[in-house]
Amino acid sequence: MDLSRRDFLKTSGSAFTGTALGGLASVGASLAPALAQAQELRIKHAKAIPSVCPYCAVGCATLVHTVEGKIINIEGDPRSPHNEGTLCPKGAAIYQLHVNPNRPTKVLHRAPGATAWEVWDLDRAIDRVAALTKKTRDETFVERLENGKLANATTAIFSLGGATLDGEWNHIQQKLMRGLGIVAIENQARI
Ligand code: SF4
Repeated sequence: MDLSRRDFLKTSGSAFTGTALGGLASVGASLAPALAQAQELRIKHAKAIPSVCPYCAVGCATLVHTVEGKIINIEGDPRSPHNEGTLCPKGAAIYQLHVNPNRPTKVLHRAPGATAWEVWDLDRAIDRVAALTKKTRDETFVERLENGKLANATTAIFSLGGATLDGEWNHIQQKLMRGLGIVAIENQARI
């Protein structure tokens, strides 16, 4: 039997839906109106705020639905000319970027040789990162190569950006890294 990707997703979707809904689907009843209505009711009284997916340079437009200042849903904005209301799987999970009980919210530090993590104040962690960055940079900075060519670089530090960094952050990041002489600069989205 030939099964297209769309058919497979439709079949899988039915299988995951509860037995009552699955039963309705199996006798040919369309669940689309009920699902559309459920979604509409869920965001009926929500405020819709236009935004942009932070994950990649495609910049898909989103609508962030909030109720009493709390995000309850994020979806593609159908008014967008390039994503037309759709989001890729990564973009479709943006909600979990904000609402996620598993997301660490404190700086954790484990000293060399230690077996337990220690909660650090953010300022202390930033000072530590800055001190180690300067120490490593100063110890490994190469002003000129053996042939006399100007290098002004260190290959001892590597900068890896994340897909949630926006354009403004990346601009500052590049200035800082280049200013320090760091040449190995990459982004997680290209790995
Ligand atoms: S939804 Fe996907 S393709 Fe669109 S901006 Fe986000 S990560 Fe990029």
